[in-house]
Amino acid sequence: MGIFQTVFVYADKTEMLAELCAGGKQLGSQVCALVLGPKEEVDKAFSYGADSVYHLGELKDRRIEDYTETIIHLVQKEKPELILIRSSKRAKLIAGRLAAELKTSVLTDVMEFTVDNNELHTKRLVYGGAGLKREYSTSEVVVATVGGGVFEALIEDNSRKGNIVEVDFVQPAHPVRCIEIRKKESESVNLSAAKCVVGVGRGFAKQEDLTLAKDLANLIGAEVGCSRPIAEGENWLPKERYIGVSGAMVKPDVYVAIGISGQIQHMVGANSAKTIVAINKDKAAPIFKQADYGIVGDLYTVLPALIEKIKVSK
Ligand SMILES: Cc1cc2nc3c(=O)[nH]c(=O)nc-3n(C[C@H](O)[C@H](O)[C@H](O)COP(=O)(O)OP(=O)(O)OC[C@H]3O[C@@H](n4cnc5c(N)ncnc54)[C@H](O)[C@@H]3O)c2cc1C
Repeated sequence: MGIFQTVFVYADKTEMLAELCAGGKQLGSQVCALVLGPKEEVDKAFSYGADSVYHLGELKDRRIEDYTETIIHLVQKEKPELILIRSSKRAKLIAGRLAAELKTSVLTDVMEFTVDNNELHTKRLVYGGAGLKREYSTSEVVVATVGGGVFEALIEDNSRKGNIVEVDFVQPAHPVRCIEIRKKESESVNLSAAKCVVGVGRGFAKQEDLTLAKDLANLIGAEVGCSRPIAEGENWLPKERYIGVSGAMVKPDVYVAIGISGQIQHMVGANSAKTIVAINKDKAAPIFKQADYGIVGDLYTVLPALIEKIKVSK
């Protein structure tokens, strides 16, 4: 369905470019990745499927946001028809300013792209996941932000090479001034790429009890994800680990939801899992309507027994 000639892709972390490069290949003929980082990151972009790389330089002591003018300048010069930007706080900021300069708007948090009558149509969730909105852009250049799991990354191929264009830095009129740096209580995790995810919810009574879920995850080679209250509210896990309409979209082979009620806002992020296993003490919990396998029981009884059983069978 490639209706565009040139597609620009940008993510503020290079590893997040893999899915965008794959998406760019589906929608266009030439995928050009914008890379901010050392030479290894340029090579990575090619291995993900980029046909060419615009190398914005190395970050050094500048802020990512200060490259917005450079990106705007590049886009105005090269005139791509589609710009795919990975949804993250900083990249969304760039997307907004870029679209404003291009006199268009941003199609935000797109979860599906389709081509209809030679136009690019998109879908995204609205009203906290209760509704689906279909949109399309009528402007000459389409700017869209895309979350994880929308496109499937291509198999990495380190032999792929392409054209590298070094881009001159455009000094911003109002650079971001760093006042203070504090250690962020978070970690880098790519839940959307995980083949198996163990999700924890408010059924856990204490943070220390999450060890049970982590033990299970270690045994079955899974990443640990969670519902929003666990990351925002309890703050037991970093925000990067929560799944749902406002968090990560996961597409694992197996999703094990433990002590999660299964509200729509959570499940839209998890219901693309091939198999859903739910553990909940309330047999009327909505999660059981979506689960392929359900265990009605107290997680404090079920999990130790399950862990023991898996250990014995290994
Ligand atoms: C605009 C908006 C956006 C939102 N976005 C998200 C989002 O992206 N992601 C998200 O997750 N949520 C999101 N939410 C919140 C969402 O609506 C739910 O409130 C949340 O998902 C509930 O989390 P939970 O299932 O962990 O907790 P609860 O709903 O409190 O469920 C806890 C479950 O644990 C079970 N339980 C309790 N004790 C045990 C035990 N000992 N053993 C076994 N089971 C037990 C209970 O039966 C219950 O079903 C959003 C809400 C709004 C309004």
